[in-house]
Amino acid sequence: MIIHLNKNVSQDKAGELAVKYQAAMFQNGRTVLITSSKVKIATDELKAVADDIFVTDTDIQLASKQYSATKREIKIGDFSIGGTTNNSVVITGPCSVESEEQIEQAAQLCVELGVKVLRAGAFKPRTSPYTFQGLGLEGLKLLDKMRSKYGLKIITEVRDSTHVDEIIEYADIIQIGAKAMYDHGILRKSGVSNKPVLLKRGFGTTLQEFVQSAEFILSGGNPNVILCERGIRTFETKTRFTLDLCGAAWLKEYTNLPIILDPSHAIGYAYGVPDLARSCMALGIDGLLIESHPNPKVAKSDADQQLDFAQFRALHSSLKKVAEAVGYRVI
Ligand code: PEP
Ligand code: MN
Repeated sequence: MIIHLNKNVSQDKAGELAVKYQAAMFQNGRTVLITSSKVKIATDELKAVADDIFVTDTDIQLASKQYSATKREIKIGDFSIGGTTNNSVVITGPCSVESEEQIEQAAQLCVELGVKVLRAGAFKPRTSPYTFQGLGLEGLKLLDKMRSKYGLKIITEVRDSTHVDEIIEYADIIQIGAKAMYDHGILRKSGVSNKPVLLKRGFGTTLQEFVQSAEFILSGGNPNVILCERGIRTFETKTRFTLDLCGAAWLKEYTNLPIILDPSHAIGYAYGVPDLARSCMALGIDGLLIESHPNPKVAKSDADQQLDFAQFRALHSSLKKVAEAVGYRVI
């Protein structure tokens, strides 16, 4: 149950109520308490101090349409996604920042095509400890340099909670990767920031578990959460993962959060990314995340799935019509 407290309720009193009802509490213009969704009936004590009370079916609460029927609008610098914007933001860049020359080429491709958000990892959560682990802080500084030089927004991933403060400082959008979806240190720290967070679905998690992870960020007081479906593990081994488009349709129907799809990590092979990206766009979504690299053959991570620049240009030019056909606009 979500309770919007009346403005006259003191912080001390709100704190007492939070303890008594085992509720999460945050402030965002108003004080909000969230109890377990198992609580279906408000006590007279709660009714007396509440402006609004929302009963929800499950612990998908702040993210649910039962709480807010309209999709959240998330501001990323001078543009927004979600709300009633019907903007679909195309985000691209290499899997990892590898060098200044490489990330600058990626930034220049964004400028050439009018792509507003450059994405690359600096702290890489690799499957093997014996592969490239990312440039760390040096990579963040290179991304920061590209932002200043080219006026781009930057999205980059937090690997663990040891460097979440640096990511919050440098990134315009904090990416929480599939392997970190359950890292509560990251979720809680992102919850007390106001920066947009792109939360990726863990590849072995249900939609319920995925959105409940988003609830940790939302209930910390950060309303700016974007969900990202990036493929789940199935019995199929010909492709890297299986992109759950049914899941994306479910998220659209039942949550109030913008949705970005990541076909690159889902299929894992460049040959399928353009067709898959257009299929994703045809769903009517708030954005796409596509990996591209100036020379994928020598990429230090995810080499098989990154598009070269010619492939990305061709894909980008084809997305506009698909988006328009379903009432969206590529930005
Ligand atoms: C990435 O975005 O480069 C990445 C590691 O993705 P995921 O967390 O989806 O595996
Ligand atoms: Mn990658």
